[in-house]
Amino acid sequence: ALNPNAKTTQVKLVLLGEAAVGKSSLVMRFVNDDFQENKEPTIGAAFLTQKIALEDKTIKFEIWDTAGQERFHSLAPMYYRNAQAAVVVYDVTKAASLDKAKSWVKELQRQANPNIVIALAGNKVDLVQPAGEGEDESMENGRQVPTEEAKAYSNETGLLFFETSAKKGDGVRDIFKEIAKKIPLEH
Ligand code: GDP
Repeated sequence: ALNPNAKTTQVKLVLLGEAAVGKSSLVMRFVNDDFQENKEPTIGAAFLTQKIALEDKTIKFEIWDTAGQERFHSLAPMYYRNAQAAVVVYDVTKAASLDKAKSWVKELQRQANPNIVIALAGNKVDLVQPAGEGEDESMENGRQVPTEEAKAYSNETGLLFFETSAKKGDGVRDIFKEIAKKIPLEH
């Protein structure tokens, strides 16, 4: 239950990343705790809200899933302008999607609100096998982005980092919870 005495802070959050990495699916998992295989791409921009209650504060996320930003890059600044948080998503089975994610991070760090909290999410981890004892995890089935590589990049760049599965739900709530913790009470 939400603490009725906790102050609610509204936070605009944008999702960015290559098409089909699972941005809409992450939002659907977080907001509705649901997943659709082969879902239709979102048309236009949709925004959904969801609250996270922490001990000392409640964060109400206004989540902008920016469909079409992959093709109409020039529209993106309209979405991330005034955003206090961004989730930049790649697909752990597609190395090129991490390159795209890095270019979004660069753009945000140059052009968005300087206090923006950015999280990097490596999605679709359910598609790769867990590494066994002593195995090199970069050799997992189908994985193209080793966890350690993305983690090191995130540390260097000042990003929160998560591996997620919108399909199974792994790591999804953590993204929003850790972002919520980093949002100052007044902004
Ligand atoms: P978006 O274009 O980035 O918003 O990506 P979507 O959310 O539309 O997802 C693209 C496709 O990937 C859809 O067929 C989803 O069902 C699938 N998908 C999304 N997340 C996951 C995941 O975590 N695991 C698996 N296996 N498939 C996923």
